[in-house]
Amino acid sequence: MEKFQVTILKPDFYDRFHCLGGLCHDNCCTEGWKIFIDKKTYKYYHNLHQPKELAVRLKKYITRYKDDPRAWGIIKYDNDGKTCPFQNEESWCELQLSLGEKYLSNTCREYPRTKNLFVDDKTAQYSLSSSCEAVLRLFLEEKEGIGFIEEKDEIMRGTVFSGGIDQGILTRRPIAAHWQTIQYAGIDILQNRQYTIEERLIILGLLCQKLQVLEDNNRIDEVNWAVKGLINALKQNNEQELLTVLPKAKLESHLLFYEKLFSNVALIITLKEKGILKTLATNIDWQTDWTFQQGKKEKSSAQWEINNQITNGENSCQRYQKGCLRYQEMMAEKEYFIENLLVMEWFRQLLPFEKETGNIWHNYQWFCGLFMIIRLILIGMLAGDESFGEKELVRVTAASMRSLGHNKNVTLPVVAFLNDAGMDTLAQLTTAINMPDLASL
Ligand code: SF4
Repeated sequence: MEKFQVTILKPDFYDRFHCLGGLCHDNCCTEGWKIFIDKKTYKYYHNLHQPKELAVRLKKYITRYKDDPRAWGIIKYDNDGKTCPFQNEESWCELQLSLGEKYLSNTCREYPRTKNLFVDDKTAQYSLSSSCEAVLRLFLEEKEGIGFIEEKDEIMRGTVFSGGIDQGILTRRPIAAHWQTIQYAGIDILQNRQYTIEERLIILGLLCQKLQVLEDNNRIDEVNWAVKGLINALKQNNEQELLTVLPKAKLESHLLFYEKLFSNVALIITLKEKGILKTLATNIDWQTDWTFQQGKKEKSSAQWEINNQITNGENSCQRYQKGCLRYQEMMAEKEYFIENLLVMEWFRQLLPFEKETGNIWHNYQWFCGLFMIIRLILIGMLAGDESFGEKELVRVTAASMRSLGHNKNVTLPVVAFLNDAGMDTLAQLTTAINMPDLASL
């Protein structure tokens, strides 16, 4: 098959990724995901005769699948309906052990890697999903922040990419021609350690707000000027004064906002499955009443029908205050971990141009929602678990990111919730992004 050459940009630790296999708490082969098999791999598996026992099982568990154009075959589950039948007792993949990584299907070989291709077929970006424990362990190692490297790669014509900026986007949205300038400016801001993570997100909001105005008014030729202006102001520390007067919400109203957010967003389903929601509710003294009606999906958002009520208990504010204080203590040392996660997701999800999420401003709202949900989960864990350390940080963040970074059906409800809650301007969002006033109890 014909190959073409691309210049790729990827995090400098990209090639250090190795699956943890049996050491992973949240093994992706036990999630019950649809595991598609591409045509080439399907044929290879079905023509395999040795080892005999494996060949028999390949024929039994890999069947032809015609319901999705991306697939040729699919892996059938049995037992609990969630665990891949090729996983051995030590949670390692038998196909990889017996045949080698080269003979895995595209789906199995790719995760947690994401590959985006850009309009001229000459530029690609490779990244790693923050929903994988092995990737989060790498984030912990990268204390100085994520660096990026450029190199050449050869790609088979017909390779399926996760996304990218294509000619269609450029035609519909001329501002997307500046995607690289905007994406790099976002990374610059997120990695600027003169500011706290919360302040960096607010500065990013200033940029996205400005860009949205330029796009709405068709003033695309001012994009470079706007980006450079903000980056220069940051270098000269001009935003510092503005940020010191940012409003802080009272602790009680901050918590009330999260109570509503978690009552309204479908991501709670997977968090519930993983037990995170139960721990969170116990630690923050949330009174909960959840009824899930699985399978009743709304048309486009695929949001499940939920009767979900969360109300603050008697001790909620004190517990939340305790969690916030412990979170601040942890972040004094580990803020770079959250920075790395945000940088990776900004890069990987192609923000602020992820097309299903909407315009630049909606992309930014989603990104803030992602941050706020992860922070609340960590605050909730820290409120109740005195021994919460690096291992727990990795495990809980990966499990939460499975619901957040992996599920586009969460992005739209989060944006819709923020808009309904009046968080449609930067001024309003700022109060939710900022830590609450911890002395306000
Ligand atoms: S989540 Fe990551 S480390 Fe865990 S099994 Fe999947 S690829 Fe391996």
